[in-house]
Amino acid sequence: MSMAPKKMILIVCDGLSDRPVKELAMKTPLQAARKPAMDALARNGVSGTMDVIGPGIVPGSDTAHLALFGYDPHKVYTGRGPIEAVGVGLEMRKGDVAFRCNFATVDRSMKVTDRRAGRIRSGTSELAKAISGIRIDGVTALFREGSEHRGALVLRGQGLDHRVSDVDPHRESKILDSKPLVPEARKTADALNEYVRKAASILAKHPVNEDRIRKGLPPANIVLPRGAGTINALEPLSERYGINCAAVAGVSLVKGICRMVGMTVPDVAGATGGVDTDYNAKARAALRLMNTNDFVFINVKAGDIAGHDGDFRLKVRVVESIDMMLELILKDLKEDVVVALTCDHSTPVSVREHSADPVPIAICGGGARIDGVKEFDEVSAASGALGRLRGMDLLPTLLGVADRAKKFGA
Ligand code: ZN
Ligand code: ZN
Repeated sequence: MSMAPKKMILIVCDGLSDRPVKELAMKTPLQAARKPAMDALARNGVSGTMDVIGPGIVPGSDTAHLALFGYDPHKVYTGRGPIEAVGVGLEMRKGDVAFRCNFATVDRSMKVTDRRAGRIRSGTSELAKAISGIRIDGVTALFREGSEHRGALVLRGQGLDHRVSDVDPHRESKILDSKPLVPEARKTADALNEYVRKAASILAKHPVNEDRIRKGLPPANIVLPRGAGTINALEPLSERYGINCAAVAGVSLVKGICRMVGMTVPDVAGATGGVDTDYNAKARAALRLMNTNDFVFINVKAGDIAGHDGDFRLKVRVVESIDMMLELILKDLKEDVVVALTCDHSTPVSVREHSADPVPIAICGGGARIDGVKEFDEVSAASGALGRLRGMDLLPTLLGVADRAKKFGA
């Protein structure tokens, strides 16, 4: 007899894991916060810690999520461009090369005077349309705006190669000429440089920018591509594990990864990817997606933002908000579901950046064992029965607990 397969929910608290904080009497924000739902999850399940990519490796959110979905980031990650492109809704085809871009401001000598064009908030969709679809030497350049000054560029054509350097100088100086890093990438670098020049001449005369200049705002008169990458075919989760997957996420980077691995990613009103995100809306969306999917993934970005801001008070509040969201989800589950709670990396408030510190994980429901861990935090989790995992082992572990693992051998 075999048990009926269970559905699975994975909640990733972006950057929530932390280090001891002096102002919190050497507790971490997770240890200092009131979080009854998270603690109940730990108490009724099995805990452990996780090196999301590997010991001593500081994960980016993109590589971390690839690992959490069971892919080896060292094999499939070629740069952030493709993830950003898919995140803003551009289609990526085999052979395409994608870039992350900023709308920025340059002076007459092509010196960057503002890398974010005054953190432009409106008009970017019109600007993006005006510079999308440009053709250069058999290469088509597709551009789409992201949030604020961000955007993505996809170059499509024969014989492209992603091994080119950035146009973005990454500081306020003259824009760079993209250079081929291997001889085969000459055509791509040339097309990219030509695109940036053509786009600049269109942007200079665009009504949105004329209007900004009249208002004394820096015009978005250049795009600065960086992070070139190509897509390596990712076998979708549905084919790999036979599961239907959906995601609730606010930030385009995470949405992009979810789409790349074949998840359905609906736009959820109020799920912003900021600290003001609507936690109730996220919980409701996740519950709705549970009806038609085997695996629902939720990313909450706010903890990472508090970490980068070095704001331990905000981080404690984020823990408590996520706890409310978790409570809403747990209370409304109609059946036995495997629920896992973890982080994609630590973003300690004392560091203000991601760190290599392992993250806590708790799994309950399905066949999960119940160990003696009673709280969800970095230290309590370390004494749990899961021990120390690698991020890539998480999804196979969940499939096992959910009675979805295949037998190997007789
Ligand atoms: Zn992250
Ligand atoms: Zn971060």
